[in-house]
Amino acid sequence: MASIVLTNVDKIYAGGVKAVNGLNLEIKDGEFMVLVGPSGCGKSTALRMIAGLEDISGGEISIGEKVVNHLPPKDRDIAMVFQNYALYPHMTVEENLAFGLKLRKMPKPEIQKRVGEAAKMLGLETYLKRKPAALSGGQRQRVAMGRAIVREPQAFLMDEPLSNLDAKLRVSMRASLNTLHERLGVTTVYVTHDQVEAMTLGDRVCVLRDGILQQVDTPQNLFDKP
Ligand code: ADP
Ligand code: ADP
Repeated sequence: MASIVLTNVDKIYAGGVKAVNGLNLEIKDGEFMVLVGPSGCGKSTALRMIAGLEDISGGEISIGEKVVNHLPPKDRDIAMVFQNYALYPHMTVEENLAFGLKLRKMPKPEIQKRVGEAAKMLGLETYLKRKPAALSGGQRQRVAMGRAIVREPQAFLMDEPLSNLDAKLRVSMRASLNTLHERLGVTTVYVTHDQVEAMTLGDRVCVLRDGILQQVDTPQNLFDKP
């Protein structure tokens, strides 16, 4: 777990679009922070800069004690969850969960322990031998979350992870995410354009517009004001 601090962060894309403009944001250790705002407001860009998938044009980003401005994603100790799951289609659920740990040459008993715990937490125990094609959308997204969990990173970065699911599933996945966050307490940055998602998931919500931070506050203070 770690705090994530953005200080005066800018992103100017080739062509001159200023996608993020002077962003100052402190995400506390263990906090669930939602970045919300209309399409094009810069929330994905902000998340991708925290992940190291996009260079920053100015300012500073730190994760824990470390300034990460020029670190590649693999050295940031974060795990991403994407909208499109990004599972390996030829591998079973179990193999998908274990793959990243195997690559890191983690001892087999530790891999089995982590995969078993994640599968239990996410209700995937009975699907471990299936391939992604034989899973529902919700189950696939659980596997994607499982892959992030087994790595035991300092932070989770999630980009619209529920957007491809139907309304009913989104409701149950929101509940699962809340439970997971209560249990694991891992610092999370979560991007969505959905205000209900922002309200039900966030400890705090950061509202962006045209690359500029409008407000950052608890859901109660942001949305329940008369
Ligand atoms: P959001 O996630 O809020 O929808 P984005 O961060 O994707 O917003 O985009 C913010 C702005 O940056 C938009 O104007 C978008 O068109 C622009 N943009 C995003 N990615 C690129 C890119 N790779 N090259 C140029 N402009 C981009
Ligand atoms: P995975 O752990 O998803 O099976 P790999 O272990 O092959 O993937 O990861 C390749 C690189 O990408 C590694 O350096 C790792 O740190 C990084 N990486 C892997 N998974 C994620 C993730 N969910 N989010 C961010 N970076 C990741």
